Amino acid sequence: MIRANYRVPNVDAEKCHACKKCLARASCRLKALIQFEAHEMPYIDQELCRGCLVCVEECPFKAIEVR
Ligand code: SF4
Ligand code: SF4
Repeated sequence: MIRANYRVPNVDAEKCHACKKCLARASCRLKALIQFEAHEMPYIDQELCRGCLVCVEECPFKAIEVR
């Protein structure tokens, strides 16, 4: 199996405020941050994400982290 050489972040459930509109999601050009409903905690599609980490900077609550 070939492993990607980038790190995919995750949404930290303890920090995420489940905003009505996820600002981090709006910043993802690949639409890899998924939020189906307003006030729902988003998640990152591990297959779509390419680890650019733009969303990490855009979340006002620092809820998106790379581990
Ligand atoms: S990831 Fe950040 S911007 Fe998105 S819903 Fe959670 S707290 Fe809000
Ligand atoms: S790291 Fe980049 S590609 Fe992945 S979810 Fe965040 S903005 Fe989208």
